[in-house]
Amino acid sequence: MRERLYLFDTTLRDGAQMNGVDFTLHDKLAIAKLLDELGVDYIEGGYPGANPTDTDLFAQERKLGATFTAFGMTRRPGRSTSNDPGLSVLLDAKADAICFVAKSWDYHVRVALETTNEENLASIRDSVKAARDKGREVLIDCEHFFDGYKANPKYALACAKAAHEAGARWVVLCDTNGGTLPHEVEKIVGEVVKHVPGDHVGIHAHNDTEQAVANSFAAVRAGARQIQGTLNGLGERCGNANLVSIIPTLKLKPEFSEKFDIGVSDERLKQLAHASHVIDEMLNRAPNRHAPYVGESAFATKAGIHASAIAKDPATYEHVLPDLVGNERKILVSDQAGRSNVLSELERIGLTVDKNDSRIARLLDEVKEREAQGFAYEAAGASFELLARRVLGQVPDYFTVERFSVNVERRYNAIGQLTTVAEATVKVKVDSDTLISAGEGNGPVNALDVALRKDLGKYQKYIEGLELTDYRVRILNGGTEAVTRVLIESQDETGARWTTVGVSPNIIDASFQALMDSIVYKLVKSGAPA
Ligand SMILES: [Zn+2]
Repeated sequence: MRERLYLFDTTLRDGAQMNGVDFTLHDKLAIAKLLDELGVDYIEGGYPGANPTDTDLFAQERKLGATFTAFGMTRRPGRSTSNDPGLSVLLDAKADAICFVAKSWDYHVRVALETTNEENLASIRDSVKAARDKGREVLIDCEHFFDGYKANPKYALACAKAAHEAGARWVVLCDTNGGTLPHEVEKIVGEVVKHVPGDHVGIHAHNDTEQAVANSFAAVRAGARQIQGTLNGLGERCGNANLVSIIPTLKLKPEFSEKFDIGVSDERLKQLAHASHVIDEMLNRAPNRHAPYVGESAFATKAGIHASAIAKDPATYEHVLPDLVGNERKILVSDQAGRSNVLSELERIGLTVDKNDSRIARLLDEVKEREAQGFAYEAAGASFELLARRVLGQVPDYFTVERFSVNVERRYNAIGQLTTVAEATVKVKVDSDTLISAGEGNGPVNALDVALRKDLGKYQKYIEGLELTDYRVRILNGGTEAVTRVLIESQDETGARWTTVGVSPNIIDASFQALMDSIVYKLVKSGAPA
């Protein structure tokens, strides 16, 4: 019999504390749906009463399988539960559960709450009771639990016990400052479960020593049965425990999968990479290529010998199978790569070529030559695909850019403000039509992009949904010989993403190449007629 382990997601509450993260109501509803589909047990939506978005969120009816949880503070010291406006808002929020944050370090009780240890315990007990009277499931987040335990174990335990004895379903031990190490977590949780049964104990770890995931597992080994975390490890400072790493480890590593069941099914696990990317998209960030399990490079191999070994048996260089988490194996085409790499990459793209076809050698030569110039095809799969298709004669000459010009001007405008304006003009030939478009932008590349995509005649309809999502520039060698590499990531209306590359001593020219590849790639993908 496997034991049930519960997952509590706080992306919408603690994750939203991260610098640069600002979820709208619409974002929050979409993320809640995503988490629910993934199969987490609890979704902490936010802090009703603390800001208009969270207040609106908790005023709505929702249809979720997960326990939708509101977060807030226990009753204030010296007040009764019926005379605390903050608590009333929390108790009236449309939520299945309430997670109270409570002090468990006597130092904070004294300094931050300015009250007595006894009054803090009473506040925990009263708040749990008030929420239970409202029919809510109750969790108590014991803030600074580990630091508090180190300073005064008796008092930290008294807080945990007060919560449990008052009827809280979960007592959550928080490593609020994120400085506790795995062996300490394991030891302290081991002590706590002697007083509060492990199936009522949760762990809430922050990542300030890069060990939030390890700390979560240490707590589980010691007996805790709820893990709190966020998608992609979003959270204040260095983030929270990353559920995107925790979930597959629980599912795929025998130490955990043989002992525990979680709410995420094997089928749902395949949505993990998708869920991780959707969050990045919402935050308008490029996904971390090197993220464990779900990153683009998580199952990528570069060296020639590794690649041929993987082709024979994936287990040789992979700890789990990529498709279990919705990722895919990738053999990188690089300078070190041999024929077998190119062939497997072509197969992955869906281009079938006989392995003795002389064009394979030509493609390999071309890749090597261009990589020597600074092109990076392993980072720009779409440009590689176009190069391969060109060598195979599968890319029509849709249009030609006969000339372009970009002008950047810094000047005073009509009302006397100093502004920098970029304008671009592009002359494109589509069949026998010559089209001239102009565009303005906040910079020269932006202006060029606007002009280039303004009017492509009969092809315009295919690129309508095209959008640039990331632009990265790297100077490859210093001095007067410097060469610039530009990587552009694009996205279309279906959510598909691809990366293209351009290289030139001139940054505008390098950008132009990458932009052109992106547009042509989209036309090829859309099956636009020649
Ligand atoms: Zn936290």
